[in-house]
Amino acid sequence: MPVYEALNALSTPVWIVSPLTGEALFANHVAQALADGSSVSALRHGSLSARPMTSLADYTPAVLAREQVVEIWTFQRHGLEVPLPCRLTLLSMGEHAGAILVEALASGDAMLHGWPPAGAGLASPAQDSEVRGFYELLFRTNSAPMLLIDPQADGRILDANEAATRFYGYPREVFAGKHTWEINVAGRSILPVMHAVAQLPGGHRPLNFVHRLADGSLRNVQTYAGPIVLDGRRLMLCVIHDITEQEQLKRELEQAALRDPLTGLWNRRHMMVQLEQVLLGRRADDTAFCLILLDVDHFKLVNDSYGHQAGDRLLVALAQTLASRLRERDTLCRWGGEEFLLLLPLTQQDSALQLANTLRQTVAAMQHEDLPGITISQGLVQHQPGESLHNLVSRVDTALYQAKRAGRNVVVMG
Ligand code: GH3
Ligand code: MG
Ligand code: MG
Repeated sequence: MPVYEALNALSTPVWIVSPLTGEALFANHVAQALADGSSVSALRHGSLSARPMTSLADYTPAVLAREQVVEIWTFQRHGLEVPLPCRLTLLSMGEHAGAILVEALASGDAMLHGWPPAGAGLASPAQDSEVRGFYELLFRTNSAPMLLIDPQADGRILDANEAATRFYGYPREVFAGKHTWEINVAGRSILPVMHAVAQLPGGHRPLNFVHRLADGSLRNVQTYAGPIVLDGRRLMLCVIHDITEQEQLKRELEQAALRDPLTGLWNRRHMMVQLEQVLLGRRADDTAFCLILLDVDHFKLVNDSYGHQAGDRLLVALAQTLASRLRERDTLCRWGGEEFLLLLPLTQQDSALQLANTLRQTVAAMQHEDLPGITISQGLVQHQPGESLHNLVSRVDTALYQAKRAGRNVVVMG
């Protein structure tokens, strides 16, 4: 810990964050003062926040090693929300190796006592004409949509290249009267973010936003914005990359990877991640959580007598019935075949037992014209302080086995 204590001497806010749980493992004094009790998740997902990846877990070591990642976090200052760019890098050594080091790109003093920070100096006229020539060339020839923005003039769009007029569907002269906040669905709240981006020291870093086109349709875009000085004015050159299809595909893949295709419930893989998170998040004084493993009794007979398809329909009906009895915070997954696992966070054994018996009765009363009635057997366990995931799952498995031995259509507590 002495190593990290040294970070308290910095005037820059610094956090060390677990990519898995998203919790701060360490925050130096300035960071604590700035955050004022807000969690990392709240800072990352505030109204002015922007980031290339939704979840910190998506920043694999490879992503963090390839380039520094920048996110904009939202802080409260004197009752106002202010954006702050933060640089994310991978901690490769020490107690928290593998965690993410988050450094704010403005000093804590600036954030705590004054905002926005003073603008950077302007370029000389000679440099200026060179920059303009380069800018013209870059702008005209590039096939990626580009916008030239004046952050000081309410985010006005000064110029748009050919690709941008085609992408957004506005003629160039119409663009000239528009502002970034008219095309960004975040509206005027995007202005402080834009100011924060304009203050970034060089380089173009990707941030994800949703933009509205002339026809009203919405597109997911990744923008690379960097400062450029033109005619003595500090402007912002923004390159837009349409990632709508990519995002859609990503969502579909994520869904496919985490859902059971037959019942639409979460699958075992998702449940394992949930279990690990609940386990990690559980501190000694936290309320316990429970697990229920349930299995259809004599399901093989259903398949044998009614056919596999009827068995499938029964599993879907069962999944719907179970899901309809749960609370928002509970997680139900298809653990395998005709077995389902239910995670009940913040739940004591007594109330879990009540729920299990309600489920048992509800399932036994299920009626479908062309399908037979079924019953379920259940094993129930409450997590013991310090117990491993492996042990917990093994205990609930044994409890289910005992429920079967006890004659089925019963709940056994492990
Ligand atoms: P028990 O009361 O001991 O649990 O008896 P059981 O017949 O339910 O148990 P067993 O493990 O012998 O059989 C489970 C059956 O579930 C066998 C398998 O064909 C059936 N099954 C597993 N997955 C599916 C599925 O996706 N669809 C259908 N229709 N049947 C499935
Ligand atoms: Mg069974
Ligand atoms: Mg089974």
